[in-house]
Amino acid sequence: MTETSSDYDTTDVLVVGSGIAGCAAAFQAARGGADVCLVTKAERPDDTSTDWAQGGISTTRDDPESLKTDILAASDGTADPDAIDVLVENADDAVEDVLLETLEIPFDETADGAFDYTREAAHSENRILHVDAATGTHILRPFLNHIDDHERIEVRQDTAALELLTHEGRVHGVLTDEVATGHPVCAGTTILATGGIGALYSRSTNPDDATGDGIAMAALAGADVADLEYVQFHPTAYDGDDPFLLSEALRGEGAVLRNGDGERFMADSHPDAELAPRDVVARAVETEREATGKVVLDVSTLEGEFDAEYPALAQKCRDRGIDGTEIPVAPCEHFLCGGIDVDERGRTSLDRLYAVGECARTGVHGANRLASTSLLEGLVWGLRAGEDAATTDADPKIVETPDLRNSDPELPERFAAEKAIRLRQTMDEYLGLERDPDDIARASAVLRRLKGEVDAYVRTRTARDLYELRNASVVALLIARAASENGESAGCHYVVEDSSDEQMAEHPTSD
Ligand SMILES: Cc1cc2nc3c(=O)[nH]c(=O)nc-3n(C[C@H](O)[C@H](O)[C@H](O)COP(=O)(O)OP(=O)(O)OC[C@H]3O[C@@H](n4cnc5c(N)ncnc54)[C@H](O)[C@@H]3O)c2cc1C
Repeated sequence: MTETSSDYDTTDVLVVGSGIAGCAAAFQAARGGADVCLVTKAERPDDTSTDWAQGGISTTRDDPESLKTDILAASDGTADPDAIDVLVENADDAVEDVLLETLEIPFDETADGAFDYTREAAHSENRILHVDAATGTHILRPFLNHIDDHERIEVRQDTAALELLTHEGRVHGVLTDEVATGHPVCAGTTILATGGIGALYSRSTNPDDATGDGIAMAALAGADVADLEYVQFHPTAYDGDDPFLLSEALRGEGAVLRNGDGERFMADSHPDAELAPRDVVARAVETEREATGKVVLDVSTLEGEFDAEYPALAQKCRDRGIDGTEIPVAPCEHFLCGGIDVDERGRTSLDRLYAVGECARTGVHGANRLASTSLLEGLVWGLRAGEDAATTDADPKIVETPDLRNSDPELPERFAAEKAIRLRQTMDEYLGLERDPDDIARASAVLRRLKGEVDAYVRTRTARDLYELRNASVVALLIARAASENGESAGCHYVVEDSSDEQMAEHPTSD
């Protein structure tokens, strides 16, 4: 059992995050005999990207080489072949063991009772399992119920990890915001599964609290990070307030893109037209929006009926007053391909610290992720890290913790909210779909100043929004640094040489 006291708690394995990666890690660590404490900022399942996942989870359908080829091609040849081998060789067993046998997820079937495998952009085969276009919800909710009922797992919702506890180069758990001065949860091994970074941009498909916490905490503790310049923008998010994703499965099943003149344009950008890799489609959509005023996803060409096949998406469209078959779309931040650098078992460069899911960089995605491989990566690496963490012979150690007493200096009202807006404007403007070296330098200057202001407050209080801002500014700076160090365009990192003195005058670096 996780031991609880008013001063600190101890557990064998601590998991931070309750998406697919955190659930898989907790599940497997408990299966391996460890006592597990899972802390999560989420108050409800839908506070995770996992719950919002639409298109599905890829399998290999007994052809791992074919999936490997597609992942490598989508990544512009930059993904790590060894990491992809780990994914494809473990994919079908993980899906079978956890999703089918343990959780009995009701994946869609055809009339004759076989799985209704679908296809998405840049996949050469129909190999994706799905439940309508709401696959994440159908996976995560039973998964959370399962781990909630597990006698070896304690789940603490609405609990944020603020800092990693470290001593002599080892990680010994986290400080949470359960009490105002910070509450230590000491652990033999710690697994970060904190998801993505959507909150760093004003338009994102992610939940609002995707502030990159795990990446920032790990980096501040000295862990290696990699590939952070590869921020993926999804080409088809609703173009309006409160954007939502229009799954790639729609294009996989026949929907097409049209510009403001009603013309299809993707065939001019890539031989696979609408089914080209995401980064290619996203840039083409943005170019056409600028040239012709808008781009729509035309769902009249779908093989089935939009309303019948995608009821949740059809409802979202109706909620925003779209009744026809042409949905206005624009690119939107969606996924971070890089993150905390990990090996084939999710081990980071710090002793006793693991990272899994979107906050980790396994090497599977390289510069651009193939659709429906993220849930799979979270599942496969979550299970592997959980298994490894449970067998690591590491007793929890009580270490000295920083004192986060709420004290001076006084925090100005709306400080965090206003600085977060400034941060997002900077990321939108300078670190979006296209990057110019001068713009990246401007972003770094603004972000450095912003982080300095946040740091002045963050050590003196445990306000969650302040830590989220601190984390977002750390990750934003790391993205800017990675982008500035990589002058080569690949996948989501598209470098243009387009700076001018005029622009410099228009956008001074001052905050
Ligand atoms: C709209 C949408 C559709 C998608 N569709 C697909 C798809 O069809 N197929 C696919 O493969 N992928 C899809 N993706 C991507 C995929 O859903 C995510 O990459 C994946 O679910 C990430 O899982 P995760 O467990 O790493 O993170 P998440 O599911 O985001 O979970 C992160 C968890 O960490 C918690 N957390 C964060 N910081 C802290 C902290 N400081 N302390 C405590 N807890 C913390 C959060 O509360 C949350 O519980 C989609 C993503 C989105 C947004």
